[in-house]
Amino acid sequence: MNDPRREKFGSYIRDLANLMDLRDWTLIIIHEDPPNRSNIASVYIPLGQRFCNIYLSTNFLTETPENQRSTIVHELTHCHFDAARKAARLSLSKKQYKIWNITFESGIDATAVAWAKTLPLPEFPDEKKKKKKK
Ligand SMILES: [Zn+2]
Repeated sequence: MNDPRREKFGSYIRDLANLMDLRDWTLIIIHEDPPNRSNIASVYIPLGQRFCNIYLSTNFLTETPENQRSTIVHELTHCHFDAARKAARLSLSKKQYKIWNITFESGIDATAVAWAKTLPLPEFPDEKKKKKKK
């Protein structure tokens, strides 16, 4: 069963993707924790496609709006750089790729944290109404 907390992020993620020049990408929110359970979120991009699956962990759902925004921007930034990752994975040894990936993730995250500050926070007006009623 789909978690309604993940479903509400669908249109927010679409809006961020549009603002990040990923308008022609198809984004699918997967209602499961990421395959690597230590990740708060992850993205899967098939080779050569403008399509991705985005996994949001249960822990992601309770993060601050600022962390949720930078996490989503991180995953969407991967869309822009996925060809570099695929090329590295195909051309480097397993050990070389592991080292390359540490620097790559660091660059993706630094870019995402800086970019996220210019993008809107997740806001869900129906939740605000519920809180005000209490
Ligand atoms: Zn990453």
